[in-house]
Amino acid sequence: MTHRFNELHDALQGVDGIRFADDFRFADATTLHLGGRPVGAMYCATTAALGTAVTRADSLEIPLLVVGGGSNLVVADGDLPLIAVVADCTDVHIDAERGVLRAEAGAVWDDVVAAAIDAGLGGIECLSGIPGSAGATPVQNVGAYGAEIADVLTRVLLLERATGTVEWVPTEALDLGYRTSNLKHTGRGVVLAIELQLRTDGLSAPLRFGELARRLGVTAADTGTADGVRRPAALVRDAVLELRRGKGMVHDPADHDTWSAGSFFTNPVIADSDVADVRVAVAGLYGGTVADAMPCYPAGEGLLKLSAAWLIERAGFGKGHPGPEAPVRLSTRHTLALTNRGAATTADLVALAREVRAGVRDAFGVTLHPEPVWVGVDIDG
Ligand SMILES: Cc1cc2nc3c(=O)[nH]c(=O)nc-3n(C[C@H](O)[C@H](O)[C@H](O)COP(=O)(O)OP(=O)(O)OC[C@H]3O[C@@H](n4cnc5c(N)ncnc54)[C@H](O)[C@@H]3O)c2cc1C
Repeated sequence: MTHRFNELHDALQGVDGIRFADDFRFADATTLHLGGRPVGAMYCATTAALGTAVTRADSLEIPLLVVGGGSNLVVADGDLPLIAVVADCTDVHIDAERGVLRAEAGAVWDDVVAAAIDAGLGGIECLSGIPGSAGATPVQNVGAYGAEIADVLTRVLLLERATGTVEWVPTEALDLGYRTSNLKHTGRGVVLAIELQLRTDGLSAPLRFGELARRLGVTAADTGTADGVRRPAALVRDAVLELRRGKGMVHDPADHDTWSAGSFFTNPVIADSDVADVRVAVAGLYGGTVADAMPCYPAGEGLLKLSAAWLIERAGFGKGHPGPEAPVRLSTRHTLALTNRGAATTADLVALAREVRAGVRDAFGVTLHPEPVWVGVDIDG
């Protein structure tokens, strides 16, 4: 592996836009501030450099991980048999008249949102404050407050790793779903840039999320309109950021309560015929009134989505679990975030993730699935 990496290093030495780094540690590159060292790392300052770096590494069969903002990664401790390829190309181009925005993979996503709103465009304000890069947004179809990137993404400039071709691929070809796409966990391709179609009237997307709508003073009487209620995008962005900060969902290097990968588990989607069993288990512990009030939302034909946070809390894992001395704790502001209190290892994180998952399964028979991408380590052991 080291030999092949040296070969790659020689082949790419001096290529425009590629910089090798000797001192890369995932603990410095992830929002969990956890993870060991790859065999090597390359920073790619242009989309061409990113494409070249990945294609050459693939031709030498060197395992690699594309890294954006490191905000959805759980990386093993110690030495890792792979290289890190960091998307560091950050150009953003906005055609305000047409509402078309293009961002290169390494552009900081929240800066892209702010720039769109500054240019008078609406449609991504609900995705304010999500850490990470523009290029990663399609990977798990990022979403928050009733919106997701699939709503506005028209196409991505994709390096298809199997063929080495680079072309604009329409959103439909990515199978975007709830926190998923055919780019996540597959190594299919590298997003070099994204293109969005935004609203030119400066208004937000329809406000579909109750908590956000209430924060913006939207009343039940407002919600009957065919097109949904919209508000100036800048106002909605401010409200979203305020709500997110209250839950520790804006990464702040100075605040350990935000050293997380965001929501650690996806909301479980189960067959509607299985929901009755979950309610029975909830009723056994908390009584019928609580069981009847269990959050449960339609999630496609024959499927219902439960709330992971609700189940975790009812399984006995409150905010801050397992307590102030623990190296990894549930955030004190958000049950669904596992946080590194500063001196943790990935092994500590994995232990807590397993404890929470087993607790929910034992209590309610529901298996939670981690949302972040795991590298060199597995929740199943
Ligand atoms: C505090 C906090 C709050 C969060 N809130 C939300 C939220 O509200 N909604 C939500 O959906 N997510 C949320 N997340 C998760 C995370 O921010 C998103 O998934 C984000 O899109 C990850 O981007 P990244 O650049 O950090 O990706 P990374 O963590 O660097 O990478 C994640 C995965 O994407 C791959 N990848 C990265 N860039 C590319 C690329 N250019 N091409 C192909 N593959 C790529 C990586 O190889 C890896 O598999 C949150 C995270 C944190 C820490």
